[in-house]
Amino acid sequence: MSRILIVEDEPGIALGLEDDLRMEGYEVEVVADGVTASRRAKEAAFDLILLDIMLPGKDGFEVCRELRRFGLRTPILMLTAKALEAEKVLGLELGADDYVTKPFGTRELRARIKALLRRASEPEVERYRFGDVEVDFHRGELLRNGAPVELTPIEFRLLALFIHLRGRVLSRERLLEGAWGPDTYASDRIVDNHIANLRKKIEPDPAQPRYLRNLRGLGYRFDG
Ligand code: CA
Repeated sequence: MSRILIVEDEPGIALGLEDDLRMEGYEVEVVADGVTASRRAKEAAFDLILLDIMLPGKDGFEVCRELRRFGLRTPILMLTAKALEAEKVLGLELGADDYVTKPFGTRELRARIKALLRRASEPEVERYRFGDVEVDFHRGELLRNGAPVELTPIEFRLLALFIHLRGRVLSRERLLEGAWGPDTYASDRIVDNHIANLRKKIEPDPAQPRYLRNLRGLGYRFDG
C-alpha cells in the first residue's frame, strides 16, 4: 500500500483529498502547515507528497526546495493555483515532479498520482540506449556505434540527469544544481557550453539536435 502525505491547509480540500485517496486504497496522512510537512516528510517514509503552495509556516516552494536539498527523492506533486504559469515553472525548478491546478478533478489527480508512483517504482536502469548511443551507468561509459566516446564528469552527470528525467523540461538552474551541485558559481552560459559539447558526442547532427532540445526561455528537454 502506498503512503501519501497530503499538505493542505484548507480543511475542505484536505478532507476531500483524504477521503478520496483512502477510497483508492492509499494510506494517507494530512498536515496543514509547511513546517510540519517538512518534518514529517523527512522522518517518515512516504511514497508521494501532495504539496499545496500557499501554506502557513513555510510555503510549498520552500518545503520542496528544503526536501530536495535534504536529498529526499520522494515524488512531489504540487497543487498550484489556476492560471499562475510562473508557479508551475518555479515548482518544477525547485524539484517538484509534477503539478495539478486547482480546482482539480479527482480523476485527473488520481491519474497523476498513479503515473508518479509507477515511475518512482521503476528500477534504476543500468544501461540506456537511444539512436546509436549506449550509456553504461555502472561503468560510467558512453558508447557510440559500440566505440567508446570520452565524456567529462560534468557531461556524464548532465546526460544521466537528462536520461533519468527524460521528456521533462529542465531549467538551467536545475541542471546546474544536478550536475555541478547546489553551491556552484557556474553560470547559465556554462550549462549551454557543456550541452553544446555533449551534443557533439551524442547527436547525429549537433546543429539540428534531435535528442537534446532547447526550449526557449525554459531550458532543455531530452527526448531520447
Ligand atoms: Ca493553501
